[in-house]
Amino acid sequence: MKALVLEEYGKVVIKDVPKPQVSGNRVLIKIEACSICGSDVHGFDGSSGRRQPPLIMGHEAAGVIEEIGRQATGFVPGDRVTFDSSEYCGKCSFCAKGKSNLCTTGKVFGVSCDTYHKDGAMAQYITVPDYSVYKIPDEVSFVEAAMAEPLSVALHAINLTDIKLGDTAIIFGAGTIGSMLLKLMKISNCASVIMVDIDDLKLDLAKKTGADICINSAKEDVVERVMQITNFQGADVAFEAVGITQTVTAGIESLKKCGILTLLGNVSRMIDFPLQKTVVKELSIVASCAVTTEYERSLKLIGMGKIDVKDIVSQIVPIERGQEMFDRLHDGEKGLIKVVLTL
Ligand SMILES: [Zn+2]
Ligand SMILES: [Zn+2]
Repeated sequence: MKALVLEEYGKVVIKDVPKPQVSGNRVLIKIEACSICGSDVHGFDGSSGRRQPPLIMGHEAAGVIEEIGRQATGFVPGDRVTFDSSEYCGKCSFCAKGKSNLCTTGKVFGVSCDTYHKDGAMAQYITVPDYSVYKIPDEVSFVEAAMAEPLSVALHAINLTDIKLGDTAIIFGAGTIGSMLLKLMKISNCASVIMVDIDDLKLDLAKKTGADICINSAKEDVVERVMQITNFQGADVAFEAVGITQTVTAGIESLKKCGILTLLGNVSRMIDFPLQKTVVKELSIVASCAVTTEYERSLKLIGMGKIDVKDIVSQIVPIERGQEMFDRLHDGEKGLIKVVLTL
C-alpha cells in the first residue's frame, strides 16, 4: 500500500509498504483523509523527539471500514468511520476510570519516541481496535471527520476547566486547537473570548469565528490590554495552546485572582514559570492531554452544524504533496492552519 513515510528529519516520501493484516477485535480502515497536526510538524524536524524516523505519521483521520476481525463487533465493511488518535488497553486503572488518554500502555498513532513506535494514518490502510472506532454521521465529510480529533482535544480541555456562565476567557494560539476552543466557547456561554496570536491572518479568522477581541502579541502588550478590557480585574480563565514561556507567563499575568490556566500546548519540554504570581493569586493550573470520550460529542456537534470545522481547513491536497505541505507548515506560512491530505 501507499504511505507517506518520514524517512529522515525534514523529509517525507511516498513509499510502498506492506498492507496491515486485520485480526482479533481489530478493523481494517481504508483511509480517505488524514490531517497534519501541529505535533507532526514539531516531530518532522526532530525537535519534539516524538517522530523518530522511519515512521508513518498521522493520527487525525477518517475512512471506510474494509474488513473486520473475527472478534470485532459493531461495524460492517462500508461503514464510514473515524477513530481514537491513540491505541489504549481498555483495562488498566486509568482506562477503567475513563482516562484512556493516560493508559499505562497507550500508544499514539504516528508516534515514534524512546519507548515505542506506532505507525499512523498517512497511508492507504490502518488497523485499529473496534472499541476506539466511531461511525461518522452521513452529513459529515471525511475531511470534517478528520477534524473530530482536534475538536475533541479542545472539548477535553474545556471539560476539565471549570468555566462559568459569563466568564471572560483568553486563548493563546489561534491555530487549530485555539480555533476549536474558540468555537466551543462561543456555544458555551462565555461572556467574552479574547484570542491572542502573532499571525494577523489567523486573528482575522478568529474574529470572523466570533472572537470578541483579538490581540497580536507581537505588536501589543497582552497583559496591559487584558487588564484594560477587564477593568483591571483580569480574565477568569486562560487556555494556553502554544507551550512556550512567554505565553504561559502572559496567561498567568492576565488572570484574576483564583483564575484558571489550562495548559494544552507543549512545544517546549521545559519553560520558565512565574511561580510567585501563581501562588499569590491562588491560581489553578489544569493540564489537558489529548482525548478520552469526546469523539461522539464532537461528531454530533459537527453533524448538527453547531460547530463548523471547515473554515480552519486551509488546504485539502493529495498525499503526494505531503513534503510541500510539511515544509510550508514548518516554515510557519502565514494564515496556513490545517492541511488535510487525501488518499
Ligand atoms: Zn493532533
Ligand atoms: Zn489502559
